[in-house]
Amino acid sequence: MPAATPIPIPSRIQTIREHHEAGGKVAAVYPIHYPRALFRAFGVLPVEVWGPPSADRNPAGAHLQVYVCSIVHCGLGFLLSGGLDIADLIVVPHACDSLQGLGSLLLDFQPPKQPVQPFYVPRGEGTAATDFLVEELRALYAFLAEHTGAAPSDAEVMACIEREERAGAAVVSLFAERRALPLDNRAFYRVVRSREFLPAERFLDLCEATLASRTEPDNRAVPVVLSGIVPEPMEVLDALSEAGAMVVADDLACCGRRMYPAGSSTDPFRRMAERLLGSPPDCTRGTTVRARLDHLRRLVEESGARAVVFYEPKFCEPEQFYLPLQRDALEADGIHTITIEVDIGDPLGMQAVTRIEALLETVV
Ligand code: SF4
Repeated sequence: MPAATPIPIPSRIQTIREHHEAGGKVAAVYPIHYPRALFRAFGVLPVEVWGPPSADRNPAGAHLQVYVCSIVHCGLGFLLSGGLDIADLIVVPHACDSLQGLGSLLLDFQPPKQPVQPFYVPRGEGTAATDFLVEELRALYAFLAEHTGAAPSDAEVMACIEREERAGAAVVSLFAERRALPLDNRAFYRVVRSREFLPAERFLDLCEATLASRTEPDNRAVPVVLSGIVPEPMEVLDALSEAGAMVVADDLACCGRRMYPAGSSTDPFRRMAERLLGSPPDCTRGTTVRARLDHLRRLVEESGARAVVFYEPKFCEPEQFYLPLQRDALEADGIHTITIEVDIGDPLGMQAVTRIEALLETVV
């Protein structure tokens, strides 16, 4: 399988520089859920901060407990060592206690040079959750207005929402056509994960070129579902390719759990809230184990996957609460699973590679 994407993907830094040169601002956004469209309505490019794995985490050690996950350790270390100096704004969604702690640290104890805004996505659904989230979105609008001097109209925000909805639908299409796309797992995820920093319009061009490269479906690779938070270190994708597996469905927080449905409200704030609250079942949103299980079973059934690979950052509490029940229920269904725990900054160990190979031997 080719490792090259159909058109070159610019780096995060290059994308940020180009956006700055065009006169826009950049927001560094920590995981997981947030409204991309609202940032773009202000000319702000949201660039996500999932670590990065290469960050010097040492500066974070003085501020975080050792049992906080590596995404937050790397994320704070990156900021404290100047890695986010290029950003104009920082936004910290409240996805979990670790990110909530990071938000508090940046707001109250270790303020960076940039303005910081927390963003609370409610657990649960229903009218109260929607109303709460609408108010959070209005607070984020006020923050962006204060720091950009812009005041986009409802129509302008709605145009950005519709563009993001098209970009979201393109990710769904990539997975629907996965077997026919001549890309190995890493190259495929380079396309999918460019959504973390590319403007939606450029991401749509990339998806269109990728989908145009369709060829005969590859029915030899063993189809698997990848679950967890983020595929870092990305060597897991190489290990899956080398073992003969293809990721055909995604339940990662950075990808599949953000395949938001299109909203229906004509009010842009309510529509953004509807979309975020309509995300696929996600531990960090407090969905029930039953809903998580139904979702995983549906992914397996619809994609024809033969196994589920749970790829988890160590010390990720939200995931750990759900994992034992999910694994047991899937195994009882006859669906093979493995769980690999990683520190996103460490290389993938040989033991993990061997376990992937053993899993593939079991399911073929
Ligand atoms: S890996 Fe888990 S604990 Fe860490 S930031 Fe993500 S959800 Fe929170």
